[in-house]
Amino acid sequence: MPDNVRNVIIIGSGCSGLTAALYAARANLSPLVIDGHEPGGQLSLTTLVENYPGFPEGIQGPELIENMRRQAARFGAEYLAGHVVSVDLSQKKLDIGRRPFEVNLGRETLLTRTLIISSGASARWLGLPNEQALIGHGVSSCATCDGFFFSGKEIAVIGGGDSAMEEALFLTRFATKVTIIHRRSEFRASKIMLDRARHHEGIDFLTDTVVDDVYDTNKKEVTGLQLRNVKSGEQWDFATSAMFLGIGHTPNAQFVGDQLDRDGDGYLVPVGHVSTRVPGVFVSGDVADRHYRQAVTAAGTGCMAALEVEKYLEEIGR
Ligand code: NAP
Repeated sequence: MPDNVRNVIIIGSGCSGLTAALYAARANLSPLVIDGHEPGGQLSLTTLVENYPGFPEGIQGPELIENMRRQAARFGAEYLAGHVVSVDLSQKKLDIGRRPFEVNLGRETLLTRTLIISSGASARWLGLPNEQALIGHGVSSCATCDGFFFSGKEIAVIGGGDSAMEEALFLTRFATKVTIIHRRSEFRASKIMLDRARHHEGIDFLTDTVVDDVYDTNKKEVTGLQLRNVKSGEQWDFATSAMFLGIGHTPNAQFVGDQLDRDGDGYLVPVGHVSTRVPGVFVSGDVADRHYRQAVTAAGTGCMAALEVEKYLEEIGR
């Protein structure tokens, strides 16, 4: 087998991929981490992280990611900027050994004996003019991460599914009032979650309503939304300190195609904890987790995937 075959390539540099890189690097496997289109993953899009153990005062998301990056690099992890277009996970054996997996970056194709897919899930955004600039300043896609910062304030939650209901219910712990804004009058959310939200005295509903803009009169933080009733066309300003998106996540696994098991929404479905039906290919973090989606759980599965890589390479005699 040519010596340009890596021991392990890790797709994604969020906290799951970086934890996998740390463990793989400390096992002398010289992992290569491919950054992907969102280097640092969702933590790099948030501000203060207060629920990652070990930081009693909290830590800024980008700083946490940078620390993880440096920590893995210290033991030999390498990083490559690039977007994975496709992977070839076919397992034909060659005379000279097992065929390596291929990772196609468009401009070049990399070869590897094992692969950890930790490419994450991206929160869906509304695509409003000011939205991206206000992430971390009142626009958020993670109630668990950012809800606390809006204690004693009014919060808007966008969406009509279980995520929106769950976020809204969670945010009532902090907010003086939570308003769920949904574009239809029917809800995708399960009855139990919807009923819970409907019966909560701290939650109001605005249905048949869309957000046309989120604004920042002082250019620093969210102060209000421009709303529109889709039936009447009426537009109005709605004062709020925060807009939480609960309109779903998209797992970043398109490049896998149908070579691994995926559920109806495209999330990778692990076999056991982090294995897949292809020996040598492992999954970790949010790309395979629609349920917990926490930095610490993503890091945990990244560690598990790296330990499995180590075991697998030993088994195939590498
Ligand atoms: P979801 O079920 O796909 O709901 C997304 C919601 O966002 C829908 O109400 C949708 O409106 C709305 N939406 C999507 N794009 C929008 C846009 N551009 N503008 C305005 N609204 C938009 O996603 P989810 O709530 O994240 O749930 C995903 C899965 O995880 C579901 O299977 C859910 O049951 C599960 N989950 C379960 C729990 C729980 O049980 N505790 C918690 C969270 C998630 P429309 O309805 O009009 O399309």
